[in-house]
Amino acid sequence: CIANEAQDRGWNLYIVGGGVRDLLLTEDDKPLLLQDIDLVVDGFHRAADDRSGVTLANTIREKYPQSRLSIHGEFQTAALLWHKDPILDNLWLDIATARTEFYPYPAANPEVEASSIRQDLYRRDFTINALAVRLTPPRKQEFSRKGDLLDFFGGLIDLKARKIRVLHANSFIEDPTRIYRAVRFAVRLHFTIEPQTEEYIKYAIDSGVYERLRLSDRQAPALTTRLRAELKYILQAEYWKPALKLLADLGALRCLHQDLQLTPQLWWEIRCISRWLYYLDPENQLQHWLIRLEILICSLPTSEREIVAVNLQLPKDSIQRVRQLDQIATEIIPQLPKKQLPSEIYQLLNSYKYVGLILLGVRSSPEIRKILWQYLTKLSQVKPILNGNDLKELGYKPSPLYKQMLNDLLAATLDSKITNQ
Ligand code: ATP
Repeated sequence: CIANEAQDRGWNLYIVGGGVRDLLLTEDDKPLLLQDIDLVVDGFHRAADDRSGVTLANTIREKYPQSRLSIHGEFQTAALLWHKDPILDNLWLDIATARTEFYPYPAANPEVEASSIRQDLYRRDFTINALAVRLTPPRKQEFSRKGDLLDFFGGLIDLKARKIRVLHANSFIEDPTRIYRAVRFAVRLHFTIEPQTEEYIKYAIDSGVYERLRLSDRQAPALTTRLRAELKYILQAEYWKPALKLLADLGALRCLHQDLQLTPQLWWEIRCISRWLYYLDPENQLQHWLIRLEILICSLPTSEREIVAVNLQLPKDSIQRVRQLDQIATEIIPQLPKKQLPSEIYQLLNSYKYVGLILLGVRSSPEIRKILWQYLTKLSQVKPILNGNDLKELGYKPSPLYKQMLNDLLAATLDSKITNQ
């Protein structure tokens, strides 16, 4: 239907990017359900404000009123989403106008201009993501046929050889987030980063391109948003461990902070916190990827942590946690070994936030860690056997003494529970 609409207008329509890559990687007998499809329309206009993609998306929206349409004006891209649709399920369709990007200076946001499909593919990150399949029949003077694979940069050979290869030498200088994408695809697809591409990554990092990923730079917010999105992808994926190792081996953690290194201690802490989270939060209520990122940030000197967290535009409570970690450590750690009874431990720790204590726990000595683990797994879950309503029913008149009574009751419950175990 979309192809017909494009064809009726004399435009070319292509499916591009990850969808083509994944289709070609799928074994013949295995079905692949694409949920996120990128389409590019070449309307043959030369003006920088070509709206072919948006026009096409609007037409589709009229035919499928149950879809939701959003338009990103700056780059002339449109997204159509079918949310919980009985047939199309959660299909996400991005429709963009073929375009070229110019980077006025390294790591800047690109300037966009309408262009041919070849140029559109040339602005992409890796050869395996720069493949397209033509969905409309060609115009007379064009060579390819409907259904043809357009492979201008050797993407198919790289797919077969399982290689991640950039399209040009400046790719990582233009956009440092591609370093993280290279790692993500390499680990997820079991590909290797081809040696020249690895050289380009190292060159970009050595050249200090990550300095551009600072909020002080006028273009940086968009870049750091993309970097955070890539970090999220990686740190929440089941393959986060090999991906993090590879990022560290390439020196790419310097994009977050020049001194950030995956030392054996930090590697231990991040695996430990992941085990703790797995146990303490099996339902995944907490954002595990974010807490992994926080433990990375907390390996930096105190004065630097907040800067990095703010720069990555992390949520407020995350920024607060990395900022306050040392302070809560000084408040808690000298006191904790002196506390004998469970109720005393509870009283000391009760006013601190749960995730803050998790961070503190994995960074502490074995003795402190053990007590914090006991608090997080057992003591913090204990409830008093009675509450205020029960006291009322027992005939106690509401008074300021209630609070004291309930606290005493909780302390008694805590101490008896632990003693009874
Ligand atoms: P995934 O399956 O992880 O979503 P994807 O390849 O579809 O993989 P997207 O982030 O959805 O990844 O991007 C879609 C396409 O846009 C990519 O295949 C690539 O062609 C292009 N692209 C995305 N990010 C960049 C980038 N930073 N630089 C250049 N091209 C990019």
